[in-house]
Amino acid sequence: MIDRKTSFETRAIHADKQRTKPSAGDPVIYPRVNSTVFRMSAGNDDDIIYTRHDNPNRRQLEAVLSSLEGGVACAAFSSGMAASTAIVQSLLPGDHVLIPENLYHGTRKLMQTIMKPWGLKSETVDMTRPELLEKAVRPETRLVWVETPSNPLLQITDIAEVAAICKRQNLLLVVDNTWPSPVNQQPLLLGADLVMHSTSKYIGGHSDLLGGAVIAKSENEFFDKIRDIQRSAGAVPSPDDCWLMLRSIRTLPYRMKGHNEHAGVIAEYLEQRSSVEKVYYPGLKGHPGHAVAKKQMCASGGMISFLVKGDRDAAARVVQGSSLIAPVTSLGGVESTWEHRIRSEGPDTATPANLIRLSVGLEHPDDLIADIELAFQQL
Ligand code: PLP
Repeated sequence: MIDRKTSFETRAIHADKQRTKPSAGDPVIYPRVNSTVFRMSAGNDDDIIYTRHDNPNRRQLEAVLSSLEGGVACAAFSSGMAASTAIVQSLLPGDHVLIPENLYHGTRKLMQTIMKPWGLKSETVDMTRPELLEKAVRPETRLVWVETPSNPLLQITDIAEVAAICKRQNLLLVVDNTWPSPVNQQPLLLGADLVMHSTSKYIGGHSDLLGGAVIAKSENEFFDKIRDIQRSAGAVPSPDDCWLMLRSIRTLPYRMKGHNEHAGVIAEYLEQRSSVEKVYYPGLKGHPGHAVAKKQMCASGGMISFLVKGDRDAAARVVQGSSLIAPVTSLGGVESTWEHRIRSEGPDTATPANLIRLSVGLEHPDDLIADIELAFQQL
């Protein structure tokens, strides 16, 4: 019997299993169910009838993600942005949202531009200082969005402290848990109402899957709206994507152990390197969010940002100068990748022009350091 007391690693492998007693000849790995239609009974609302609405592989994926985040329900989407969009579309016109100063630029665009004609109002707050959050709350504020560590500056927000403010002020707290993954951080257990994921990153883990998810602490009217948008607007993952995502999740705890360990080694190496002006990694003692990160995270994750000594062109040359580490925009794969981040964030970004965002993979750290040395020859 798999329940909440079963260890995380075991749930990652077994939480998708059907509850019925297995018989000889049953497949150990549940197959993909590609049929879009299912025979209907005389009238059971829980029946799977059409794949946009529900699908056996999606049910399994949602069960596993709920279990790993300590939630009661999950809605899986075709991308992280589809998941975030469903959350904000569940608000009402005129509702006000508080978002961090530093966060994934796509989420900022969703809040500030895409949802503006819908009547959504948003305001940025320095979430590393929760006392500022309390002051920013307005009568029409409905939701607080937290991303910790943030993309790309790895700012740390104290989830429990923000959750206490949200509780006092009757606000919903959403945490984008993409970067740490549920292995390193479990926001629902720290008081958040919803966790959002781009499963395209660590959960998928192999740079070959796009997906998103919303996991809820309790099934309530707000989550019902998200579920309705998932099923009715239809930005859902295919059965194949759900099946592959489940396969990835089976190794997630062990992949994260490698990402955490390797990133720790690389962050310390970068900190010593004379070509580097600054390293942003919460596992480093000098990081301003180190103490909070230690309190709420099991480990510091696989993402590092750093400033090279030099200008925008110097950073652009460095990311083209490696051999193993690929210059790409996404993250969380088993292979290391990096990005001259300003290129992806558009003209209104506050990201420093010489910032490189590194997703540390599972190659041996000695090989990665040799590759970074090769790239630094471009400086
Ligand atoms: N949230 C974070 C923290 C991200 O880094 C990203 C993508 O980079 C997203 C959300 C968006 O996810 P997706 O690309 O799956 O839509």
